[in-house]
This record gives sequence, C-alpha cells and structure tokens, in this order.
Amino acid sequence: MKIDLKSLTIAEAAGHLKKGDFSAVDLTKAYLDEAARKNKDVNAYLELFDDAIDAAKAADKQIKEGKAGILAGIPCAIKDNILIKGHIASAASKILEGYRASYDATVISKLRGAGAVFLGRANMDEFAMGGSTENSAFGLTKNPYDLSRVAGGSSGGSAAAVAMDGALFALGTDTGGSIRQPASFCGVVGLKPTYGAVSRYGAIAMGSSLDQIGPITKTVSDAEIVFRAIRGKDARDGTTIGDATYKKPASGKVIGIPRHFLGGEGIDSSVMESFEAALASFKDKGYEIREITLPNIGYALPVYYVLMPAEVSSNMARYDGVRFGLHADGRDGIDDYFETRGAGFGKEVKRRILLGTYVLSSGYYDAYYNRANAVRRMITEDFLKAFDRDRGGVDLIATPTAPSPAFKIGEKASDPMAMYLEDIFTVTANLTGLPAISVPCGTAMKDGKALPIGLQLTARHGDEAALFSAGKALLGE
Ligand code: GLN
Repeated sequence: MKIDLKSLTIAEAAGHLKKGDFSAVDLTKAYLDEAARKNKDVNAYLELFDDAIDAAKAADKQIKEGKAGILAGIPCAIKDNILIKGHIASAASKILEGYRASYDATVISKLRGAGAVFLGRANMDEFAMGGSTENSAFGLTKNPYDLSRVAGGSSGGSAAAVAMDGALFALGTDTGGSIRQPASFCGVVGLKPTYGAVSRYGAIAMGSSLDQIGPITKTVSDAEIVFRAIRGKDARDGTTIGDATYKKPASGKVIGIPRHFLGGEGIDSSVMESFEAALASFKDKGYEIREITLPNIGYALPVYYVLMPAEVSSNMARYDGVRFGLHADGRDGIDDYFETRGAGFGKEVKRRILLGTYVLSSGYYDAYYNRANAVRRMITEDFLKAFDRDRGGVDLIATPTAPSPAFKIGEKASDPMAMYLEDIFTVTANLTGLPAISVPCGTAMKDGKALPIGLQLTARHGDEAALFSAGKALLGE
C-alpha cells in the first residue's frame, strides 16, 4: 500500500500497521525520506537519527506479537530540549552543542515504552527563549507554508516538522506559548497541558513554574492520544498530578470571550475575522458564547516578562563550563566561567539572565519579583472566578492564539518588545497553570500565500477533555 503522508493521522497509521498494510519500518523510512528532503529548505530538524529504523523494527515485532498500543511504530520529532539517552540534547545552544543525554526524560521513556519511533531532534529558540526559532544557534526554521516567514517559536522545529509531513507528531515545550504559537503559525494542533499533568523530568528547564511538555499534531484526536501517553504522576517531578484528576468527564459547552482584551491595535484583522467565524461555527454546534471580563489580564505579559527571566536566570546558572557541555579556558576558575558563558550563550539568553538577576537583586526584589508574583495570583483568581461552576461560570475561554499569522523572517528579530508582544494571548495559561490548546481556525492571504491562523481555548485545571471535545467539534473530527 502506498503511504500518503499528507493525509495520515496517528489513529489511521495505527490501523494500517495493525492490518499489515505497511510496516513500521516502511512508515519510518517514508518519514525519514520526506524529512530529509524538506529539511533542506525548512530546517525543522537539527539531526535525523540513525537508530530510528532499529526502533521501527522493534515496533514491528511488538505489532506482530499483538502487544502494540496505538503509538507503536508511530514516527515523531522531539524538541531539542528533551533528553533522549545517548543522543545530543543541545537546546539549540552553543553551550550544549556536544552534550549527550545520559538518561531518558520521563516523556521519552513513556513514548519508548509505547513503541513510538524518534526520528530526530527538532530545532527551537535557544533554551526555548523566543517566538520565532530565529534564536537557534544552528539556523532558523522556516515556515512550510511560506519559506520567507518564520515557523513561530520556540518549538518552531516541532511544528514545522509535523506541518511539512516530516513527522506524524512532535513534542514541544511551552513556557509562555511555545507549543501553541508555532502550532498556530504552521496550521497544526498544539496542546499546553495543565501544569503538572506531564512530568518535566529530563526537559531542559527554562522557567520551572511555567514549563510544560505537550504534543503538536495534525488533529485534536491525535493530541489526545499523545497526551494520554505522556501524562501522569512521576516520583521524579514533585509537581506532577495523579490520575484522579483525569477520571472526570469533560465539562459543558459554554465559551467565554474576554472581548475587552481583543480590541488592541496590534491584532491583525485577518485573525479577528477567522476568530469570529470560529465562534459562529461553535454556536452552530450547540455551544453558548458569553462575554466575560478578566480584569487583570492586561498585566499578564509584563508579569510574565518579570517572572520568567527571574526563573531563567536561576536555571541558566548551572551552565558553568564544568558540569555540562562547552568549556572555555580563562585566566583562572572564575574567568573560565565568564569565558564559557560569554562564548556559549546567545544574545537573547544573555538579555534574560540580565533582566532576571536584576529583578531578583536585593534592591529590586520587592518592587519587581514580589509584585509580579502578587499580580500573577490576581490573574489566576480572575480565571478561577470566570470558571467557577457555583457562580454559573464558563467552561472554556476562547481568544486568538497569536495576534498575527506567521511574520516575515527578520521582521521582529531586532526588536525584542515586538517579539514579546507575540505572547500576549498565550502567557496567561502558563501563569495560571491552566491547560490550553491551539487549533487551526482559518487562513489569511498574505503575498499570495494562504497562512494558517489558530484559535486558542483555555479550560479548567485538569479539564483537557473539554479542550479536546471543543477542538474536535470545531475541526469536525
Ligand atoms: N515566546 C515566549 C518567550 O520568548 C515563550 C517561550 C516559551 O514558551 N518557551 O518567552
């Protein structure tokens, strides 16, 4: 049987593998070929793995023995900040260029156990800091829909790999939108799970109170399959939550819209048009649309850009030229440290370390870090109130995922503030720990090319089920 990569989903591929229409080795080869071919233009992958075929052989054996689950033999791309034993994990940074993982991240051991096939390492912004993958130390990732535009970021390689038919799904990480925004730019589905739903063990940390690993897929059903496979309590990550949360059924069908937050000048009109069309389609499908107010949501972006760098500055302290990766010799021990970090870190990482140490410094700690933390709590309260069942709260909150479709390469690279504004709709889910998904909701014609647009849905803690059912309703799955 000829493998049609364009239309294939995880669920369909699993069916074909089970029936023996093709083998996992056939499927893996098809993806490796396509990935290698497209990667020349797109640069979604930093590396394709030699051992993928061996993993596919093992999956074929599992399938033959009738022991295989739905992910057996399914080829995927893994963001370069998630550890796969024996493989390089560089976080797209010079400082970790040659660093090889000595153990599997929990998500990797779970996927490995399920028989998934790792095709390679997906490109990203250095240490996941950015919104365009232009901050990678190893070249940017281009958007498969228009090679003159960015793929989004920081998980731009993961999203582009799926969009270019170079993987059936990918894992990304999301600290302030890094799964959802590239998914929206590349016309695929991206899920940022509830904080603690997925173990962060073996993910290279950026902002530890914000980071989550999640799937990037072609359909909402596929995102659900991968989410089920990777979530769960893990003794190695004390913030993980147990199964009880995930036994509850999805909640109802009321979608709240914070209109007061959607009127900004920075929002492209094509994005609002697609958004309104998606709301109309939800109404047709029996969803109720209700206007809501989130009084403090306007502070989310500044709060994020105080708290995130604080956590970044502390997480980056471990790259000292002794324990991991790059080592540069200076005049003495302290100087080694300066030389290594000076040579190893890129501009954006350095900027955030500076900002982070500033807001944590004794003179400014109360004025910035503590206040931002207090406002973070207020923002969370706003969301909990909006979702409060006892007060007739809504079940979902919808906004666009990003204020514009994919922008041109270089357009925002020299203007960090413009780049940070990309995250206006996504950071709240990380600040509050709430789960959020981006689903394709239309396209905009720009320079003769149809560029994808994403809709973001946010739900109650642990209510990914509501995201999946609404997402499937919208996409007609
Ligand atoms: N674009 C955001 C930032 O630069 C989000 C990054 C992320 O989610 N890893 O911080």
